[in-house]
Amino acid sequence: MPELPEVEFVARQLRETLPGRRITAVETRWERSIQGMEPAEFAAEVSGRVVTQVGRRAKYLLLTLDDGRLLIIHRRMSGNLLLWAPDDPEPLYTRVVFTLDDGRRLAYTDPRKFGRVALAAPDALPAAFATLGPEPLEDAFTPAALATRLAGHAGAIKAVLLDQRVVAGLGNIYADEALFRAGIHPLRSAASLTAEEITRLHAGIQGALTTGIAHGGTTFGRHRDIYNEAGVNLEHVEVYRRTGQPCLRCGAPIERIVVAQRSTHFCPHCQPPHPASSNGGSQARRSKRAK
Ligand SMILES: [Zn+2]
Repeated sequence: MPELPEVEFVARQLRETLPGRRITAVETRWERSIQGMEPAEFAAEVSGRVVTQVGRRAKYLLLTLDDGRLLIIHRRMSGNLLLWAPDDPEPLYTRVVFTLDDGRRLAYTDPRKFGRVALAAPDALPAAFATLGPEPLEDAFTPAALATRLAGHAGAIKAVLLDQRVVAGLGNIYADEALFRAGIHPLRSAASLTAEEITRLHAGIQGALTTGIAHGGTTFGRHRDIYNEAGVNLEHVEVYRRTGQPCLRCGAPIERIVVAQRSTHFCPHCQPPHPASSNGGSQARRSKRAK
């Protein structure tokens, strides 16, 4: 499932190729990929529009059109946007095709069909994104801002990081990576983290995300960039899906547990269940180890 880095990498690629291009036609191959509008109406509204900007909010890709409206693309489980050159065969699982004025096409592909493409007025965005937490790579996201977001969340920090209302764009891969970088056990209560731990977590979130973007995102499933290339960040992750392999810092075998129904990978030595300086008490929770 694409997380912030996978969406951001694709946004950056589209930003190099799409602004100034006119969408000359839209074909829908799977009606439910279009949200909130009949495919014929969607095609009529979008055809003829020029893409002026490419942006991202959380895991949503935002293409601004020259009438001010936005195409919002949420890839969900398996969606991709592929630049489809005139001589190439149609990509597999194409659901929506945007033909561009230079003859190329942008194919929205989605084998599992959970992703959605929608056309929205700019004044609809604040409501659509009202529940999303802060963007973790923006300047306003400081350790203090993270502390404010975590306050009052008694649940396991791993589960809290997956909550898009707390921080936008984190998913299973980068939450695990951020917690490892910060040396924080995934089952620690979010509300129990010290200011120093939150500062480390803040750095861990930003470090994990920027590393992911730099490597084109993490592909072990469907994520591809617009040129149909896999991201190579799986070669650079430190704990994710490394169960049983030695920790890159201390050599202890990486363990796997389930938190919020998601596989969670951590080092039992570098991410102790209780902080070294803890005064105990509230940290009595035992980690359930499910190998
Ligand atoms: Zn370790």
